[in-house]
Amino acid sequence: MSDEQERIARDFYARDPEEQAAFLENTWCNHCQQVDLGMTEPVEYEFLGRIFVEGKCAVCGEPSITEVVEDEEDDA
Ligand SMILES: [Zn+2]
Repeated sequence: MSDEQERIARDFYARDPEEQAAFLENTWCNHCQQVDLGMTEPVEYEFLGRIFVEGKCAVCGEPSITEVVEDEEDDA
């Protein structure tokens, strides 16, 4: 039995350069236990209806994952 959910690939590089830079700077590394160390090799995907950017910590190389909170227009 498997309860694995599928990741839906998204294109991180389709974002604005400013946005990309912000994601690469605003990180949390579990290994270093520090914020904003930066990440490399970002990969964006959707998982369980949420969007994440996963990369490697620029300092230690361990995986670093950031959840993307979209600023959607009001559609209420
Ligand atoms: Zn690290």
